[in-house]
Amino acid sequence: MTICSRRNFVSGMGALILMTGTTIKSVAQNEKSLKTVRYAMVHDETACIGCTACMDACRKVNSVPEGVSRLEIIRSQPYSEFPHVKYEFFRHSCQHCSNAPCVSVCPTGASYIDKQTGIVDVNRDLCVGCQYCIVVCPYRVRFIHPVHKSADKCNFCRDTNLAKGKQPACVESCPTNALTFGDINDPNSSISLKLKTTQNYRTKVELGTQPNLYHIPSKEGEIRR
Ligand code: SF4
Ligand code: SF4
Ligand code: SF4
Repeated sequence: MTICSRRNFVSGMGALILMTGTTIKSVAQNEKSLKTVRYAMVHDETACIGCTACMDACRKVNSVPEGVSRLEIIRSQPYSEFPHVKYEFFRHSCQHCSNAPCVSVCPTGASYIDKQTGIVDVNRDLCVGCQYCIVVCPYRVRFIHPVHKSADKCNFCRDTNLAKGKQPACVESCPTNALTFGDINDPNSSISLKLKTTQNYRTKVELGTQPNLYHIPSKEGEIRR
């Protein structure tokens, strides 16, 4: 090989390495941009004091009328004897199932999973009030909204607080930080770290719904299924 052709070869290799580097970088960037967010929530039953501030905040922020609710904190039977009575508190709300039966049965596409966030939501304009989604939800969290007459439930404040860049109303209002919300597809998010560092459970996983509401079990009572 002459000096000239060797020089061409070396500069060609350099260009190839540079191009390969660029290609690797752009593939990595594409992969990053393709990674979707999956919002989830953790209710820490060991930190919950049953104050119901979250329920009140949800009602106010999302204009939920009396008589129906998107979120309930259910108090258990008392444990131990007076004066050392203890309770456990359980969050009852939409689980934002990754495999959501309410979405599968909806005949109009009104019930859907938002591709950007994984949030299960309802398009009121498409809802005909047939109630199939209410019947099929194994968690019993849906209702017909008495004012707009379409199916309704928790949507992680997608169109209210989240749209303003805030945390869901329940999370914002909790005085004991019993609620953690975030992206479980991000391994460094506070929710991912919480799930990695605690014992936690989800309900009715045997149905294949893939719920995205997690609970850190209370030290009292029994784990619900
Ligand atoms: S909890 Fe019920 S309403 Fe919520 S996504 Fe699952 S099936 Fe649908
Ligand atoms: S009530 Fe509305 S959201 Fe539910 S299944 Fe019927 S059309 Fe779909
Ligand atoms: S605001 Fe927090 S402490 Fe109070 S009931 Fe809700 S989750 Fe529990």
